[in-house]
Amino acid sequence: MRNTVGLLLVLVLAWGVVDCGKKQEAAKPESAAGGAAPAAATATDPVCGMEVKTADAQKVEYKGKMYYFCSAGDKAQFEKEPAKYVKPGE
Ligand SMILES: [Zn+2]
Repeated sequence: MRNTVGLLLVLVLAWGVVDCGKKQEAAKPESAAGGAAPAAATATDPVCGMEVKTADAQKVEYKGKMYYFCSAGDKAQFEKEPAKYVKPGE
């Protein structure tokens, strides 16, 4: 009788450990995937203040820094007077 109880106890414990291991495994793939693809990088158009996706935006490099624009028009505006749109200290 005692042996049976002991055996049962061991079984229960073993089952608990296995189950725990399964849960941890289940958690892992999710965190590895990290869910959605990384959000596209965005930047603020210094001319109109609009948030633009850097991948699709017009780009100008000014004083070693990249600036992004929603349209060719804003890009041209910036290129005419960059100092007007660049905040001091940037
Ligand atoms: Zn713009």
